[in-house]
Amino acid sequence: MAGILAELLPEQTLQIVYLIAGILFIQGLRDMTHPRTATRGNLISSGGMFLAVVVTVLWFEILSPVILAAGLLVGGAIGGYLAITVETTEMPQLVGLFNGFGGGASAVVAGAELIDVFSASGSLSLELTTSAAVAGIIGSVTFSGSFVAAGKLHGLVGDSPVSPNVGHVIKAVFLAISLLAGLYLVAQPGLFGESLQTDWIPVYWLLVGAALLLGVALVLPIGGADMPVVIALLNSYSGLAAATTGFVLDNTVLIIAGTLVGASGMILTVIMTESMNRSLANVFFGGLGTGGGGESDEEMDAIYEGNISETSAEEVVMLLETANRVVIVPGYGMAVAQAQHAVAELVELLDENDVDVEFGIHPVAGRMPGHMNALLAEADVPYEKMRELEEVNPTFSQTDLVIVSGANDVVNPRANEDDSSPIAGMPILNVTEARHVVVNKRSLSPGFSGIANPLFARDNTSMLFGDAKESMQELVNEYKEATS
Ligand code: NDP
Repeated sequence: MAGILAELLPEQTLQIVYLIAGILFIQGLRDMTHPRTATRGNLISSGGMFLAVVVTVLWFEILSPVILAAGLLVGGAIGGYLAITVETTEMPQLVGLFNGFGGGASAVVAGAELIDVFSASGSLSLELTTSAAVAGIIGSVTFSGSFVAAGKLHGLVGDSPVSPNVGHVIKAVFLAISLLAGLYLVAQPGLFGESLQTDWIPVYWLLVGAALLLGVALVLPIGGADMPVVIALLNSYSGLAAATTGFVLDNTVLIIAGTLVGASGMILTVIMTESMNRSLANVFFGGLGTGGGGESDEEMDAIYEGNISETSAEEVVMLLETANRVVIVPGYGMAVAQAQHAVAELVELLDENDVDVEFGIHPVAGRMPGHMNALLAEADVPYEKMRELEEVNPTFSQTDLVIVSGANDVVNPRANEDDSSPIAGMPILNVTEARHVVVNKRSLSPGFSGIANPLFARDNTSMLFGDAKESMQELVNEYKEATS
């Protein structure tokens, strides 16, 4: 139906606006590649999406302007509330839910469009049924898979109750049902042309139901250490589902936006799998990374008993006073404690005293990609000081002191030494090559992967027990006193 904008403006205006929105998405993504411009990139992309949504709704008179304004207000308020109140450490769950809603919306819209077109024209094109079947499968897998992933990250969903082999059979059955239903839908117009009957409608919902169960079966057995890869992949799927729904609706801007999300999500997935030394097949079918349950206290005691040396802020300051080069390795604990400002203050003081100080940042440190970079940027740490894993690892042998602030898995040598551990093969920050290592955390408790860390028991490691923020503040105060 032609809406108010379509009556007022020339026909080409809609495609020109979509083109502008597409350019804004691409510029936004470009800006997001650097922390300094990321906030601007976010605003530019959101502006593009706002433009696309408003113009589409008013052009096709999908909604009246009043309902549109009310929807934007309510939706914007919910989104704003979530974004402001959610803890940074819970951001992956939120991203997971957003991915899920995106996938679910694509599956439902594709189904609704099939029904709509069929009831208006009595026939369906091959292009429409093919793209709807693809959107239905990918969107539904994304919806249920994302909810399971978010539930796992939040500790609400446990491990799969069935053995890996039974799990593979269940996945194969749901995949086969959804593919067969999709083939049936696609074959109907080609095989029967005008004689197409409405009996495909339940088939579409059968496809959606089987794909929903497939999403659950795929993500449920994947645990702890591999969840970042799953979230990144589902993010990519949500984009692919949106792009195929764009073909269903013949909507250019949805195709552009979906393809951008699909491609960037896939690049992120590759970066994450490389950072964790996993292949996608390994994540989804290998049964690895299910180590969320972790090791028993006895197993941990066997590694730690009699081998832990504790240190104090005064002793660490003595090491700092004689150090020429210091590397700080931040992790999830720094984020939880919000210790980044105290850490930044310590770095400033070390700089003033001509100590060469840098950060060693692991790509999966924290609970979301770029988590550490974002926190340190918030505390005004210069970007030049943030070194990636490949850059910083060769420098540890010339480093006098490494301070590990609330990190655990990303410095766990078992990734290199223990093939059976859930983090086996994950590249880590080889901090143990430095002359001294000080690990600051509250206890000997494990990190996300649930396993003990032999680094804590090494001869050149000392434990500075305490909350990251309080301990860093104490270090700052002691260092100020010692150097004044
Ligand atoms: P870890 O989860 O391995 O360890 C964090 C450590 O922080 C814990 O051992 C905990 O020990 C300590 N800690 C918690 N609170 C505080 C506090 N207030 N003060 C000081 N220390 C504290 O973190 P890493 O960053 O080393 O590794 C990230 C892990 O998360 C990896 O396994 C990664 O695969 C996974 N992951 C990463 C995602 C990403 O995208 N980056 C997403 C999802 C998971 P204690 O309780 O003793 O203080």
